[in-house]
Amino acid sequence: MNLTKLQIDALNNCVKCSICVNSCPVASVNPQFPGPKQLGVDWLRLAQEEQSQPIPAVDYCSNCKTCEAVCPSGVHVGTLNQLAKSNLPQRSLGMREEIFSDPSLLGRFIHIWPQAGNMATGLRPVKFLTEKTVGISSQAPMPAYSMKTFREMLLKYKPEFSEIPKEVVYFPGCFTQYNQPEIGMSLVKILAKLNYKVIVPDFKCCGQPAISNARLDKTKKFAEHNLDILRQELKDGRELIFSCPSCLLTFKEEYKNILGLQEYSAFTSSMQDSGQFLLNHREQLAALLRMKNAESAKYAYHEPCHLRVAGQGTPGLVLLKSLMGLDITPLEAGCCGMAGSYGLKAEKEWVSREIGNNVKDAVTNLNPQAVITECGMCSVQVNALTELPVKHPLEVLAEQIKA
Ligand code: SF4
Ligand code: SF4
Repeated sequence: MNLTKLQIDALNNCVKCSICVNSCPVASVNPQFPGPKQLGVDWLRLAQEEQSQPIPAVDYCSNCKTCEAVCPSGVHVGTLNQLAKSNLPQRSLGMREEIFSDPSLLGRFIHIWPQAGNMATGLRPVKFLTEKTVGISSQAPMPAYSMKTFREMLLKYKPEFSEIPKEVVYFPGCFTQYNQPEIGMSLVKILAKLNYKVIVPDFKCCGQPAISNARLDKTKKFAEHNLDILRQELKDGRELIFSCPSCLLTFKEEYKNILGLQEYSAFTSSMQDSGQFLLNHREQLAALLRMKNAESAKYAYHEPCHLRVAGQGTPGLVLLKSLMGLDITPLEAGCCGMAGSYGLKAEKEWVSREIGNNVKDAVTNLNPQAVITECGMCSVQVNALTELPVKHPLEVLAEQIKA
């Protein structure tokens, strides 16, 4: 077996402490799932010695990466599990995995007639048929699609700059592009007030959905396309910002691991969460705030797992708390269970819902008016579990910026 650098590092660095096993949300609700170490690192050891196949239960790994966030040795257990998944001989890679591994496919299709797409995905007979034929759960909450895409809205937005604007590159991600363009437009409008013009090149999907659906071939294709763009766009010292934590993590960590890149730090040093970028402009932002009704509302904050493992803290939360003085409490209830498309799969929907119950209970105890989180699919899950509005920090901030 030829090992990649990622796999060699895992074998060398894992100290068998089992911290990852004890923190895995899937292992905590699904007794058939033996946990991250046994599936990722231990399988690698066995595969070297006995040429063994990965055990089928690895398919239940959601790629939430909670294990990676807690591992004291920096082992990429979640990514190793996805590599093991792609080695499962009996793994079916049907239409569902094809659809879920590139959300822009469905986004472009539904965008032809979004009203009909949203209505159809909500109809019971359609849900029933989709579960029976494609394996998408009839119980799972489906994300709604926007009538206009982010790029369509951006084309129509003509901000006026008082002086020659600075430029920043933005990766919106598929959820902002097709489902919730308000997230991206909030960022663009805030940045215009800070005298930044936002450049949105012709990126493809970041490739995280393809990793989670064991389509690493697609991730490689997307990564090569996106990195070619970055070589052009970042050469004049511009920075690259993200509103989606999974996209940020994919660009910062997964491209390096999956493409086996050695010299990558020149790129990663230019990449950051949009909340961090705004925090760096805190004083200018403070002068732009209206602060209408800010004190009276009570919010809960759900930290997306991929933001946690990206290792940049929770800048969106810090921004809303320190700059706006919002009454916002972190839930600290762990993974919401959705993990991209994981919770939409018929055989995994119950695992996703069981994991999400911790978040639901924490929200119920807190009784906020709304929940705030950076991740699009977390927002779909938390909204379905709690029936509360769920917003991105950028949307909350944009509402308080003076016109
Ligand atoms: S990525 Fe998540 S589900 Fe998979 S092994 Fe790690 S903690 Fe468990
Ligand atoms: S937490 Fe890291 S070091 Fe500990 S068993 Fe898991 S992979 Fe190995």
